[in-house]
Amino acid sequence: MNNIIYMDNAATTPVKKEVLDAMLPYFTEKYGNPSSIYNLGLKSRKAISEARQKVANCIGANENEIYFTSGGSEADNWAIKGVAYANKNKGNHIITSKIEHHAVLHTCEYLEKNGFEVTYLDVDEYGMINLEELKEAITDKTILITIMFANNEIGTIQPIKEIGKIAKEHGVYFHTDAVQAIGNVEIDVDELNIDLLSMSAHKIYGPKGVGALYIRRGVKTHRYVHGGAQERNRRAGTENVPGIVGFGKAIELAYENLEEHNKKLIRLRDKLINEVTEKINYVRLNGHPEKRLPGNVNFAFEFIEGESLLLSLDMEGIQASSGSACTSGSLDPSHVLLAIGLPHEIAHGSLRLSLGDFNTEEEVDYVVEKLIGIVDRLRQMSPLYENVKEEK
Ligand SMILES: *Cc1c(COP(=O)(O)O)cnc(C)c1O
Repeated sequence: MNNIIYMDNAATTPVKKEVLDAMLPYFTEKYGNPSSIYNLGLKSRKAISEARQKVANCIGANENEIYFTSGGSEADNWAIKGVAYANKNKGNHIITSKIEHHAVLHTCEYLEKNGFEVTYLDVDEYGMINLEELKEAITDKTILITIMFANNEIGTIQPIKEIGKIAKEHGVYFHTDAVQAIGNVEIDVDELNIDLLSMSAHKIYGPKGVGALYIRRGVKTHRYVHGGAQERNRRAGTENVPGIVGFGKAIELAYENLEEHNKKLIRLRDKLINEVTEKINYVRLNGHPEKRLPGNVNFAFEFIEGESLLLSLDMEGIQASSGSACTSGSLDPSHVLLAIGLPHEIAHGSLRLSLGDFNTEEEVDYVVEKLIGIVDRLRQMSPLYENVKEEK
């Protein structure tokens, strides 16, 4: 077994060997600027065009509807600000949910300070939005609905097709942050009525710092970066050629192996969920029991601090993530765990284990065994747990 067991694939993933091999020539011998008209430039231009075609194929889009960005955060910013400012004359209302990634939430908060109004939809205990509430929130000023495809913390997958249908019926644009969904879920932007969709390479075994925004042809939006004529005149800057090539390769591999990947991850995920909930008391699964990402596991352990849990796991070589935002200097539990109704003290004991292509069954066994010991040891030190034991 490796020294490190990496179960934080929702935070980022390692670059696959095939992806790296595809990228390498574009750092060295094929270094031309894609905007240059000579042969070396043409090589880079061709590589970008092939990658664009691959990304488009994977989501059922046309290649000229794909715009490369620096990642998921930029794609979210562009989608939301672009539509907001370009459709101001039609209305100033945006609908989103309380469990979005900060790239969406903070963009919406910024727009609120600049004359826009935002409705933040509640979610139920599983992290699902309510479609009736969505319909009721739409007014004649609504220009955009932005709801994430799948949640990065608890893995809940939203009813995207139904949301798309509602948006279309009301003549409102629909954007979805699909950073966690691509490579895990079949996506067809036409079938799902999606107008804009954000993607990122580093969550699907591609490089960091590259992603894309799908913009359906005809959607009214603003250009995002001013300067040169790159990305059909909408996002200036010399392209990240190796990154774009890597992204194209990564998404192609993800969809070639989708069925196999999902089967494996679901098996590992369910084993982890079943064993932990059977062998440890006072633990609950956060997120939806069925409509969840194949690699997502999120537990709330009562009478435990997520931070201590993470540190103890790290000492055993296990890399995971907690549901509190302590790392960012705040002691508040994540907005997602609070939105599904977890009380503060329970949200604090949350642990996200996100599985990926490189995890094995032996690793799951090892993690379960270590978790049992660590949870027991931490609870022995908890005064709250003492009270519970005495009550019994
Ligand atoms: C990781 C992530 C992002 C941000 O993507 P970057 O490429 O890291 O900027 C946005 N949304 C979700 C749901 C994510 O998981």
